[in-house]
Amino acid sequence: MVHSFDIETEAQGLVEFVDASPTPFHACEQVAARLRQAGFTPVAETDPFPTRPGAYFLVRGGSLVAWDNSGADAAGAGLAAGFRVVGAHTDSPNLRIKPRPDHTRAGWQLLGVEPYGGLLLNSWLDRDLGLAGRVAVRTAAGPQSRLFHDPRSLLRVPQLAIHLDRSVNDRLELNRQLHLEPVWGLGPAPADFRAYVGEQVGAEPADVLGWDVMTYPTEPSARLGRHGELVAAPRLDNLATTYAAVRALLDVAGRAGRQVPVVVLFDHEEVGSMSERGAMSTVLPSVLERLVLAGGGSRDDYWRALAATVIASGDMAHATHPNYVDRHEPEHQIAMNGGPVLKINTNLRYATDSRGEAAFRLACEQAGVPMQTFVVRSDLPCGSTVGPMTAALTGATTVDFGAPMLSMHSARELCGAQDPAGYAGALAAFLAPAG
Ligand code: ZN
Repeated sequence: MVHSFDIETEAQGLVEFVDASPTPFHACEQVAARLRQAGFTPVAETDPFPTRPGAYFLVRGGSLVAWDNSGADAAGAGLAAGFRVVGAHTDSPNLRIKPRPDHTRAGWQLLGVEPYGGLLLNSWLDRDLGLAGRVAVRTAAGPQSRLFHDPRSLLRVPQLAIHLDRSVNDRLELNRQLHLEPVWGLGPAPADFRAYVGEQVGAEPADVLGWDVMTYPTEPSARLGRHGELVAAPRLDNLATTYAAVRALLDVAGRAGRQVPVVVLFDHEEVGSMSERGAMSTVLPSVLERLVLAGGGSRDDYWRALAATVIASGDMAHATHPNYVDRHEPEHQIAMNGGPVLKINTNLRYATDSRGEAAFRLACEQAGVPMQTFVVRSDLPCGSTVGPMTAALTGATTVDFGAPMLSMHSARELCGAQDPAGYAGALAAFLAPAG
């Protein structure tokens, strides 16, 4: 089975997906819209699990699980072949709005923000920022969640002029409490953020019961490079993997296969994954278990299915930086547009072992895309991701992988324009392995 994805289509598709997904909630909404359009049926977690094989998805806040068991015999013996799971995360480092954000200083209206995740603080300076998020609104039927995405440039964290700090180019010090507050207006009185949020979701200020609102850079994503070889965009970590995983699932949906293809998109990866919907939660195991039980299988069948399952956990990978080549392992250089990246760390910051590597290598071979291998320098600490957690929670063979990028955790990141197509191809082959 050959999975071919057009380079230009996927690069453009990635740009549109990223720009439409300023928050994890919007990423899930965007994915849900694409799945619905392809015939996937939404499942509410509070409803009985569907017993009829088919293509479904479930959303838990900023996390989403989608699967298609229409091609497999869901009951008992069929699931002995297990699941093929591709994982990614929907959240990215950003500045999030505090509960009591309004205050003034020196004639400015400021908004209190709290950094979320390990952001490169300097990259948020002097950027035009917008607001988007989820709001809990009082209704007669109880609290209701509403999303908003305000496309306007509303905020800016202004950098201090060089004349007032001559040492700034040698050493930039940013205090997370003092120096990251965005301005969003002028005047002696504080603005009313609650009223603003109410306007955005069509509610009276008194009916705004809570919010998960965050800032995002409003500059649209763009192609970059002499020949457009690159994509400059925010949130590529990890919306680039999220996008490719969904494209791959849509490609294999409806095709008969021995394993059931599953895509899981987690929120909260950037802050440790310990939440009701993060990778440490029940969001993935509960779906896999309910899938087996609803198909007529037993709890024993569930554990049998897990034992045969392979999980590919995707998070972006560090391409070799031309200005800092010494930060990279000399024998494991990673090239932009050089293909998907397998990540290995013997201290288990990545879950990959030789069995997982085999599954991922075969998928790349099947898709006809080159594969690269990342190892961090032995004298540098290694980043981590949700692969080891998912492996521990499920007991399934797990492989960590990514796509090459620069400027990870910057407000504006950089990836290859050719990589999204190969990435989606490799993941489609992983979800539906030949033979
Ligand atoms: Zn990531």
